[in-house]
Amino acid sequence: MSKVIIIGAGGVGGVVTHKCAQLPEVFSEIVLASRTKEKCDQIAAQLDRPITTAAVDADSVPQLVELFNAHKPDLVINVALPYQDLTIMDACLEYGVHYLDTANYEPPDTAKFEYSWQWAYQDKFKNANLMALLGSGFDPGATNVFTAYLAKHYFDEIESLNIIDVNGGNHGYAFATNFNPEINIREVSAPSRHWEGGEFKETPAMSKSQPFTCPDEVGTYNIYRMYHEELESLAKHFPSLKKAQFWMSFSENYLKHLEVLENVGMTGIEPVEFEGHQIIPLQFLKALLPDPASLGPRTKGKTCIGCLVKGKKGGKEKSAFIYNIKDHQDCYREVKSQAISYTTGVPAMIGAKMMLEGKWMQSGVWNMEQMDPDPFLEDMNKYGLPWEVIEDPDFAKDFD
Ligand code: NDP
Repeated sequence: MSKVIIIGAGGVGGVVTHKCAQLPEVFSEIVLASRTKEKCDQIAAQLDRPITTAAVDADSVPQLVELFNAHKPDLVINVALPYQDLTIMDACLEYGVHYLDTANYEPPDTAKFEYSWQWAYQDKFKNANLMALLGSGFDPGATNVFTAYLAKHYFDEIESLNIIDVNGGNHGYAFATNFNPEINIREVSAPSRHWEGGEFKETPAMSKSQPFTCPDEVGTYNIYRMYHEELESLAKHFPSLKKAQFWMSFSENYLKHLEVLENVGMTGIEPVEFEGHQIIPLQFLKALLPDPASLGPRTKGKTCIGCLVKGKKGGKEKSAFIYNIKDHQDCYREVKSQAISYTTGVPAMIGAKMMLEGKWMQSGVWNMEQMDPDPFLEDMNKYGLPWEVIEDPDFAKDFD
């Protein structure tokens, strides 16, 4: 029986709130707080049990501490934006409460994401006897747990990792992003980095691609190599990895629009002067694009996200692919959201459950792969994200 505060009432916040509300035996009291209280109230109105809603500016440590003092949570789930990670972690330390998020800290004025800022909190959380669980979404999140599961049960040593994220969904808009447009476009337009031979190698954004046929007739999609934050923690925590890459599918249409927007300067994050106002082009673009939370009823098709691992077992080379497939419309029927927010929000709820039930509770700052993968994957099967393993799949030959 625990009280959680969920911060952020966007696409992911909606799913986390729905999924926590479905488990009153774990999450006995829920507070949903965000910048705009009306958005919290809209989500609260979709539920069949009462929750508390509140307004908070998560950039302000004093406001957060005031919120925590008013509600006395056992755990804070941060599903606002990556810019708020450090203020929320500071407020958790000041009040004395455990912390969980789904994306690593990004400074608002540099398009750069890495764990160094949050890993630097290790001693503070340890000394306060508090836990911070980092990146409990799907990727990062379930992908880290998938990798740890294969390493634990299928291999003696893992040597290469390819994380493959395919969204076979279609929302019918010419251009829209499936999660926060600002964060999404910053991520996609950054140079690609992958782990090889003990270091990260940088290549131009979207410069390497190949077709990938998903299992279970989801379809064939072009996947593009790009940087994703879990590569950093996985390369650190699995030092036997010689190569680790992340791939995501994009439609021709998405890439064409993105190229034009980049070429005309609409994806920039430096302020520009316009008729006496300072405008950040990417934030203005976000205001024009469809709200990702509104894509739910329109998005049809499936996502397929998984990890292909190669390595050795009993002295022999082998490979295994572990993955989940999720139907966008099934998600909408269950929690009024498309599958991208769903596949992020469910692992956030499960990570919180693991901590509150004591299965994963230990003081300090941790990435998902550092925990026992088994109870988490058991819960993915139970709470809407079933997974499968294919041993030695044919497509393993297409990946290093
Ligand atoms: P949205 O933009 O839909 O929602 C973000 C929410 O945070 C909004 O409700 C917003 O408020 C609120 N917010 C923003 N700034 C503040 C602030 N200063 N104080 C209080 N609330 C604030 O984003 P998503 O729901 O799509 O994404 C949420 C998080 O999940 C992001 O960090 C994203 O990177 C992460 N994510 C992780 C994935 C994974 O697999 N690991 C995949 C997808 C997303 P308002 O409504 O007023 O703007």
